[in-house]
Amino acid sequence: MKTYNLAFKYRIYPNETQANIINVTFGCTRLVYNRFLAQRKELYETDKKSVTYNTQAKELPLLKLELPFLKEVDSIALQQSLKNLETAYKNFFQKRTAFPKFKSKRSTRKSYNTVSTSNNIRVEGNFLKLPKLGLVKIKLHRAIPQNYVIKSATISQEPNGAYYVSLLTEFQRDIKEVPSDNNIVGLDFAMSELFVSSDNQRADYPRFFRKLEAKLVKAQRELSRKVKFSQNWYKVKLKVAKIHNLIKNSRKDFLHKLSHELVTKYNAIILEDLNMKAMSGVLNFGKSVSDNGWGMFTTMLQYKSMLLGKQVIKIDKWFPSSKTCSSCGNIKDSLSLGERVYNCECGHTMDRDLNASINIREVGRSLLAY
Ligand SMILES: [Zn+2]
Repeated sequence: MKTYNLAFKYRIYPNETQANIINVTFGCTRLVYNRFLAQRKELYETDKKSVTYNTQAKELPLLKLELPFLKEVDSIALQQSLKNLETAYKNFFQKRTAFPKFKSKRSTRKSYNTVSTSNNIRVEGNFLKLPKLGLVKIKLHRAIPQNYVIKSATISQEPNGAYYVSLLTEFQRDIKEVPSDNNIVGLDFAMSELFVSSDNQRADYPRFFRKLEAKLVKAQRELSRKVKFSQNWYKVKLKVAKIHNLIKNSRKDFLHKLSHELVTKYNAIILEDLNMKAMSGVLNFGKSVSDNGWGMFTTMLQYKSMLLGKQVIKIDKWFPSSKTCSSCGNIKDSLSLGERVYNCECGHTMDRDLNASINIREVGRSLLAY
C-alpha cells in the first residue's frame, strides 16, 4: 500500500457571520505574514543572513500579546501563514525565487490554509465543519471517498466574491503501476492550441470557446464605456462576470475530457516543466498564458495518471526542445518565434511544435528507462 494525496475543490456558502470571520482571517494571516516578513527583511538587509528561528513556538504567542485580536481567529491558520513565509524565505535563500513580497490587501485572490486536527474538518451532509466557523454550507458536487482522510483545508475567495474550499486528502491504495510499454506521448505547450502532441494531436479549444472569448472582449469594452457605479455599469458588470464564469466552467469541462482521453490512451505522458508565472512575465505573453489552462490541465493529467498507476514525467524546462532536430539531434543556435517550420541541415523538415513534442517524448523515454 502506498500513500497518495488528492485535492477536492468545492464552492462554499458561508452565512454573514461566517463570511465575516473568513474575511477577518484573511486579514490576520496577511498581517502575520507581512509582519514577520518585514522583520526578516530588516535582518536580511543589515547582515544578509537567513534567520530562521523556531517560529511557531516563540514568535506567534508574542505577537498575540501585542495584538490580542489575533486570538480570535483560527490559530492554525496563523501558524500556516508563518510556515508559508518560511517556505518562501527558504526558496529565496536556496536561490529558487526572488525575495518574498508583502501580501497586498488589494490582491484579487484571498486565501488561508488550516490543518485538520482530531477530525475538526469534516463533511456533514450538505455542510462542511471548519475550525472557528462551524458548519458551512457546501456544494458537494463530487463525494470524497470514505477512506480518504482530510488533511488540510484552504479557504479562498474569488474576485467575484464567491468562496471556495480546497480539501487536501490522503489515502492508501494499492495502485498497480502500469509499465509504459513504449506507449508514450510527448506534449509541447503551445500558446494558441494548448498543446501539440508527438502524435500530432492538436488540442485546440472548441470553437464555441473562441466565440465566448470574443463575447467577453465585447462586454468588457461595453463596460469601460459606462459611467462607473451607474445602474447600467452594474448591469454590464454582471454580464461580464457571467461570461467569465461560463468560460471558466467550459474550459474546465474541456480539460477534464481531454486529460481523461490522454491518460486512457497513453501509459506515460511527458511534459516540459514550465513555470507559467515566470513565463508570462519573462516572455511578455501576459494574461493569455495563465488563462490558457495549461496549469490546470497538467494537474488533471497528474492526478488522473496517478490513480491509474500511470506516469506523468516533467522534464527540465531548460531542455532545448524547440531547437533540437528530432531526426539527427543537431541543436540550432537560434530559432525565432516566427519560424513555424523546423528546417535542419540534415534535410529534416517538420512543423516546429511537432518536432518539439517528439523531442520531449524522447527525453521522457530515456528517463523512463531508469
Ligand atoms: Zn537534423
